[in-house]
Amino acid sequence: MKYPDDIRDIKFNLFEWLDLDAVLKSEHYGEFDREQLEMVLDEALKVSRGSVSACNETGDRIGARFENGQVRLPEGFAAAYRDLASGGWISPTIGPEFGGMGLPESVGTGISEFIMGANTALGLQVLLTRGAAHLIESFGSEPLKAVYCERMYSGEWTGTMCLTESSAGSDLGEIKTKAVKQADGSYLFSGEKIFITSGEHDLTPNIIHAVLARTPGAPAGAKGLSLFVVPKFRVNPDGSLGGANDVVCAGIEHKLGIHGSPTCSLVFGTNGSCQGFLLGEEGQGISLMFQMMNAARYEVGVQGLSIASAAHQAALGYARERLQGRLFSNKTPQAPQAALVHHPEVRRSLLLQSAYVQAMRALVSYTGWCMDMAHTTTGEARDRWQGLVELFTPVCKAWCSDWGFRVTEWALQTYGGYGYTMDYPAEQYLRDCKIASIYEGTNGIQALDLVGRKFRMQDGRPVKHLMSLAAETAQALASDPILGESAQQLGAAVKAMGLVLGEIPTRENALVLTLLNAVPILDMLGHMIAGYLLLQQAQVAQGKLAALLQERGVDAKDAAAVRALLAGSPEGAFYQNKVQAAIHFAHRGLPLVAAQAVALHAGEVSPMEAIF
Ligand SMILES: Cc1cc2nc3c(=O)[nH]c(=O)nc-3n(C[C@H](O)[C@H](O)[C@H](O)COP(=O)(O)OP(=O)(O)OC[C@H]3O[C@@H](n4cnc5c(N)ncnc54)[C@H](O)[C@@H]3O)c2cc1C
Repeated sequence: MKYPDDIRDIKFNLFEWLDLDAVLKSEHYGEFDREQLEMVLDEALKVSRGSVSACNETGDRIGARFENGQVRLPEGFAAAYRDLASGGWISPTIGPEFGGMGLPESVGTGISEFIMGANTALGLQVLLTRGAAHLIESFGSEPLKAVYCERMYSGEWTGTMCLTESSAGSDLGEIKTKAVKQADGSYLFSGEKIFITSGEHDLTPNIIHAVLARTPGAPAGAKGLSLFVVPKFRVNPDGSLGGANDVVCAGIEHKLGIHGSPTCSLVFGTNGSCQGFLLGEEGQGISLMFQMMNAARYEVGVQGLSIASAAHQAALGYARERLQGRLFSNKTPQAPQAALVHHPEVRRSLLLQSAYVQAMRALVSYTGWCMDMAHTTTGEARDRWQGLVELFTPVCKAWCSDWGFRVTEWALQTYGGYGYTMDYPAEQYLRDCKIASIYEGTNGIQALDLVGRKFRMQDGRPVKHLMSLAAETAQALASDPILGESAQQLGAAVKAMGLVLGEIPTRENALVLTLLNAVPILDMLGHMIAGYLLLQQAQVAQGKLAALLQERGVDAKDAAAVRALLAGSPEGAFYQNKVQAAIHFAHRGLPLVAAQAVALHAGEVSPMEAIF
């Protein structure tokens, strides 16, 4: 099946809702105009719908294989990866000095959605390569940058992120891999990493590992870690390949989804000759690695969105075709069978799927746009945008992966029994999506980051800024004839969230209450942000719809004429559905904020009293 994209909504986010002009007028991105960016998106979609999506199903059915110490990727992966590399799609947001297109992050997010949605297993290869190369660009010596960066950004070599060990999962302070400094300034490695995505494969002639390891005498815990570059094959100063660098793949995992992505156990230094190079300074490892981890967390949020969107689009296509039952308004046996989309219960599920997908896309697009604003401003303005980016990063990661997974489940349900079979893509989407809530720091760890660090950073200014933005939108739309009730729901959610943020820290048992409720608090905040952004989008869509009706000479009060127009106008239908999705989310999603606050206000701590 071809990848069922939603380029229309991506373009709405970029070109009709976000203030892209504020980004494009800056020196940084001044060479781009809207038309060029639209063309870039169209091209990225073309390759995603082509070779990238063509091997998605075979990738799942055949999967990566481990044979005689080598990892073989499924048929089609090499060609698709070559297409991505030759089109510049590995690093479209990287600057031209390293061979990239230098696109804004908000546009890069749309491109990532296409690649991830078309083939998640292959998409992971892309995001890790870009992230590892960016570490070298930011923290590597000039000779390291000269040899590695462009080769990685272009896709000639791929990259990995080597953190996890058998006793160091969430707890990176337990990392034991050793790095010992040599006379020439390089380091020799020994140790084992597990669960390393694309740690070994046959796509490219070299693989470059970004490795967290411990130097002799370093303090215990995360503060004693340093960050290194360790190539699979040694690299000569002119960039040509030397001999093997004593990094061996001991096997790959058999797992629930993303079968085309090899999850590798790597052994470093079996023969005492695994050489690597320091990035930054000794002891800075964790703080430097956070650059790659934060980028990857954001991209994993995009992964949740991408898969959910594709799952929803596929389910919608099925529901339009599949005939079952009669219209509820005409149940006589003689009446023709109706397509699933006509049944109210199916419609409810489809609009809920769509509302959550639009909410996730609004969240990641807005965060990408905040990154662009932070890149293109200075001083206080820059701090304000960067504050929002940092606040939103764990929410993008956890909220989009959790709700993305739920959307894949609702989408599968749309097919009935067929969704449970391998004849349709729904079950693969569901399996591929689950991992997003686990890697790059589990969603529990994201929630602890939010309540422990992100709420407090910059003296709490980013979260206060967010609360006032959401409250302003609720107030501004409170008396809108169509969106007013939804705006009141947003107002109630902002109030409930504000009470939790203000009151819980004053309790005697604030720490235990906060830790116990970190995941619900992140979920509440995700819903509040989503409701706020969707209402803003609905306001824009409402204006566009009114303009369309006026242009076609249709009286907005004439319900039959409006329905007739919407039936024949994909653009009209798009705006209508955007307004309806925002209203639906406001009534089904936003009340969850106050509902979850109940346990917090009651001070309910029964999990701490239970005997496990
Ligand atoms: C397919 C796949 C690909 C992966 N790719 C990579 C990769 O490329 N590079 C890499 O380095 N790693 C990778 N990982 C590893 C992944 O990041 C870890 O699995 C993840 O960080 C969790 O670690 P763990 O599995 O040891 O679980 P644990 O840390 O044992 O956690 C188990 C559960 O306990 C919770 N928990 C743990 N500690 C705490 C705490 N202090 N407070 C509250 N709750 C806690 C967690 O939220 C989780 O629900 C990958 C994993 C998989 C499955």
